[in-house]
Amino acid sequence: MALDIELRGHELRYAAEQAVMAFLPEFGGEDRLVSSLAGDRALASLRYQGGEYEGEAPLPEPLPAEALLRKRVLQRAVKESVFRAAAAALGSVPPWGSLTGVRPGKLAARHMETAGRDAEETAAWLEREYSLSHRRAQLCAQAALAGLRAKEHLAPGDIILYVGIPFCPTRCAYCSFVSHSVEKSLKLVEPYVEALCGEMASTGRLVREAGLRVRAVYWGGGTPTTLTAEQLRRTMDALAEAFELSGNPEYTVEAGRPDTVTREKLEVLRERGAGRISINPQSMDDRVLAAIGRRHTAEDVRRAYALAGEHFGGQVNMDLIAGLPEDSPAGFRAGLEEVLALGPANVTVHTLTRKRGADMNALALRGLPGEAVGEMLDCAMELLPAAGYGPYYLYRQKFSAGGFENVGWAREGTACLYNVAMMEELCSVLSLGAGGATKRLLPGGKILRCFNKKYPYEYIGSLPAAEAEKRALFLGEG
Ligand code: SF4
Repeated sequence: MALDIELRGHELRYAAEQAVMAFLPEFGGEDRLVSSLAGDRALASLRYQGGEYEGEAPLPEPLPAEALLRKRVLQRAVKESVFRAAAAALGSVPPWGSLTGVRPGKLAARHMETAGRDAEETAAWLEREYSLSHRRAQLCAQAALAGLRAKEHLAPGDIILYVGIPFCPTRCAYCSFVSHSVEKSLKLVEPYVEALCGEMASTGRLVREAGLRVRAVYWGGGTPTTLTAEQLRRTMDALAEAFELSGNPEYTVEAGRPDTVTREKLEVLRERGAGRISINPQSMDDRVLAAIGRRHTAEDVRRAYALAGEHFGGQVNMDLIAGLPEDSPAGFRAGLEEVLALGPANVTVHTLTRKRGADMNALALRGLPGEAVGEMLDCAMELLPAAGYGPYYLYRQKFSAGGFENVGWAREGTACLYNVAMMEELCSVLSLGAGGATKRLLPGGKILRCFNKKYPYEYIGSLPAAEAEKRALFLGEG
């Protein structure tokens, strides 16, 4: 349903909408926003849940003459005015202040680079200019710093490679990815594997012709280890044949669902060059796992982690989600403590997000209130640094519970280059498989994109077109 937003004196609807959705995810029904640009300020008049609120933000004097820059300044003022009205309506300042973007680290990194500021100064700037909470400002600046460090090790022509396996044993209730339960889509898996091997061969040719160098490989999805050991062997061999991997790029495979992890599959991954693996409990509480339809237990996680340890040592990432239904701050703390006791190299703490495509949006609505989620994330920010982990990448999503964030934490020297480069948009990305988003990063930061077909059944027959699009993007053909 369209949001009731009236614009006066400007046409920056997207900025006003983005701000409303970010600060007031429940906005709708009788709620209404009037966003105006008048004289030297932006004004927001908000009717929200029966109350009337105002917010205003001054415009700089003079406005930049250059059109794009001027537009950015006006957008920022529109958002800032909506933010101030929303903060008045909520009676509190959202944790990320007036920031609305998915990649707050990029803003912080740009400030460090262009203004020559260090992490502390940048955090203070974020607090002052964007009203970020002290903790979020610190988190953002530290993640930005990790991104800048990773950037130093990337050269022009370096790329990262993503391989998508859009199948899982069953579909989790909160899932919004293109992932098919293998129970229902078994007959698609083999044709998918065949098509993927074909795409690897053609994309490998393109990479050689364009003179690109693969710096990181990441198998995600879905759950790649839903494939059988034989299918994993075949696809990983196809990848190694298609691409020049002798420079030992970072190589990560998600084995997110512990119910897909077997000794044989782990041996295949290790033998074929994977150096990192991800096992994702999401929660260590069986009641919570049952509520979100994971169909595995915490004991399965312990078993999978022990097996992974035999093949990957500590080079394991574990994901947890804050805000799941049936969870509590105390339960989340206990789960995180147990994960930390296992000693993985990386821990990624997500916030439950209510997304289109999830089977049970109602489930997310029954997720925990923002205060409880905030308590869980505060706990993560307390326990992880104390255990020797630092934030190395972060991103935000629309509709995440309480407006919070997802943060990757790593022990010193174990940050996943793929995650940093992807999130901070440090280099080009070539994506293989259904739903893959390929991005070519141009000098100056502009990004060109093309997309593979989203669903496995349409991807299987679409390779010639996908190949042509990638060649046009990287080689200028067509
Ligand atoms: S394991 Fe991940 S990709 Fe698979 S259904 Fe669950 S949330 Fe979706």
